[in-house]
Amino acid sequence: MDEESGAGYGTPGGHAASGTAVGRVHSVETMGTLEGPGLRFVVFLQGCPLRCRFCHNPDTWERQAGRVMEVEEVLDELSGYRTFIDASGGGITCTGGEPLVQSEFVAELFDRCRKLNIHTALDTSGYAGLSDSVRRVIAGTDLVLLDIKHTTEDAHRELTGVSFEPIERFARFVDESPALLWIRHVLVPGFTLHLDTLRATAAFLSSLRSVSRVDLLPYHELGRHKWEALGLRYPLVHVAPPNRRDVNKAYNVFLDAGLPVTRP
Ligand code: SF4
Repeated sequence: MDEESGAGYGTPGGHAASGTAVGRVHSVETMGTLEGPGLRFVVFLQGCPLRCRFCHNPDTWERQAGRVMEVEEVLDELSGYRTFIDASGGGITCTGGEPLVQSEFVAELFDRCRKLNIHTALDTSGYAGLSDSVRRVIAGTDLVLLDIKHTTEDAHRELTGVSFEPIERFARFVDESPALLWIRHVLVPGFTLHLDTLRATAAFLSSLRSVSRVDLLPYHELGRHKWEALGLRYPLVHVAPPNRRDVNKAYNVFLDAGLPVTRP
């Protein structure tokens, strides 16, 4: 794996005897409301190269875990909810983990969804090399939910364990694509809530042309029990969720930068 470029993720996955790609799925949520417009059929995929200190899904990190599913199996399960999805203006969202770890599977799934007129959303950290399969995923994606953790190289490494550079390249690639771009950014006291940090993040986002929504997500401790269940030490044990004053401060920085930020 080329850690600096993010290349090595989005490499070929498995295939079924039928020749279609197979994915490793942690779980599906049939009526999600947080991962894009309308009601979403949310597919949580296994595997993540990041180690975000605030991660609330550490049980998705392992690439080889989860349920093996073919694209058609996912579509079969989704079909039972199609009426609700269509009536609400919803669709399918692939998340994780980092869904681009299984980019061949997501590319094939989204190709099929496009043919079935199902809206496609990708919830990603953006930590992926721009391989052919990653480019295919983006070509088949209507909406990219890009989770920007930090925009300063050293602090990004400290918070997530990986470089920001591949993510910046990915963000600019998506920015040039026809996909809609929504940003999600977690407000973590001691990491992303300094005024200078907020301004740097807002400046980076302002340099992208196609950002149509920014959601600020106050850090919470809901994932802590999962770390402990996995026998892992929770790294933010001394960090409390941000107070209302700090959340408002962040909101105003993004608003002042002219970004389409929603009030958290
Ligand atoms: S990218 Fe998401 S799944 Fe991966 S470590 Fe970060 S928060 Fe967890």
